[in-house]
Amino acid sequence: PTVVNKIAAGEIIERPENAVKELLENALDAGSTSIEVLLKDGGLKLLQISDNGAGIHYDDLPYLCQRFSTSKLEKFEDLQQIQTFGFRGEALASISHVAKVTITTKREGDLHAWRAFYVDGKLAPTAPHNTSAPQPCAGKQGTVITVEDIFYNVPGRKAALKHANEEYRRILNLMQKYAIHSEKVSFSCKKVGETVASISLSSRLSIKDKIRHVFGTLAVKHLKALKIPEGTINVESFHADGLISSADYEDKKSIFIVFINNRLVESIELKNAIDETYSKFLHKGASYFVYLSLSMKPEQVDVNFHPSKRIVHFLYDHEIIGAISDKLAELLKNTDE
Ligand code: ADP
Ligand code: MG
Repeated sequence: PTVVNKIAAGEIIERPENAVKELLENALDAGSTSIEVLLKDGGLKLLQISDNGAGIHYDDLPYLCQRFSTSKLEKFEDLQQIQTFGFRGEALASISHVAKVTITTKREGDLHAWRAFYVDGKLAPTAPHNTSAPQPCAGKQGTVITVEDIFYNVPGRKAALKHANEEYRRILNLMQKYAIHSEKVSFSCKKVGETVASISLSSRLSIKDKIRHVFGTLAVKHLKALKIPEGTINVESFHADGLISSADYEDKKSIFIVFINNRLVESIELKNAIDETYSKFLHKGASYFVYLSLSMKPEQVDVNFHPSKRIVHFLYDHEIIGAISDKLAELLKNTDE
């Protein structure tokens, strides 16, 4: 069973970036308004994410890193989603099968925080205690998850990830995208030993200011809002919001960010359609900045295509992609300023 778990974990967690994505999403799900990431060697040695969210109940700590342990399936309708939305409760379990995980958490009204240490999905003892029971400790409301020595037990994977800088760059990139998408949440990322954060995107910044901070002035120069209100197309609950560049993003590489139901995803079909529309209305190979946030019924999104849930397919893709391309074309046509 350990081998199976490790293989399953390896498909979900291929590199530190994947762990950070899952942990960020958990922090956001817990209602955090401030998320701080600390990295050593691009997360290969240590990655720690601190949030000020709801915290975790003491009673849940023993099961937290077991597969399919989730607090997010409560209603009957949620059960339906298991089929299409991927199994839940796999992220922490997967991480704990390829790394050493420490969780410190405190809920509102708790007298003190609890600290728990996990190996292979189970609570484990940590020095100086010879018990694996969670230990009381100091802490503020929220959760701190520390992931150490990722892939310590997967030598092949560890050897393949030699470049801490590359891992670091990927994590920053990911956090910047979540920062742009998540209004009212502050994000910061620091390397161990550094006093100044590598990125610090306050919740007070507007989305345009965040984009300017991350991608430069050029990215915001010709931004236009793309909006498809609910009811525009014949797909229940579908709506879209975003910002798109209406002029060539000059010598920069294109940037395409898409969230579906608040998860950063990749959709090859959507990207191709956007490429094509820009080529047609600006010029072939024009580079662009596109940020889109799509909402649809969760059961319309198929994330099972890839175990890490990054590449998605969705129902009514023709209607949805068609509507987005049309809207984009309309915005690119009316750029007579
Ligand atoms: P899922 O997010 O699909 O439920 P995870 O393995 O990512 O599964 O997390 C398991 C559970 O751990 C979550 O359902 C949640 O109850 C709890 N949890 C994880 N991270 C946090 C956090 N930062 N704050 C509060 N609860 C958390
Ligand atoms: Mg999760």
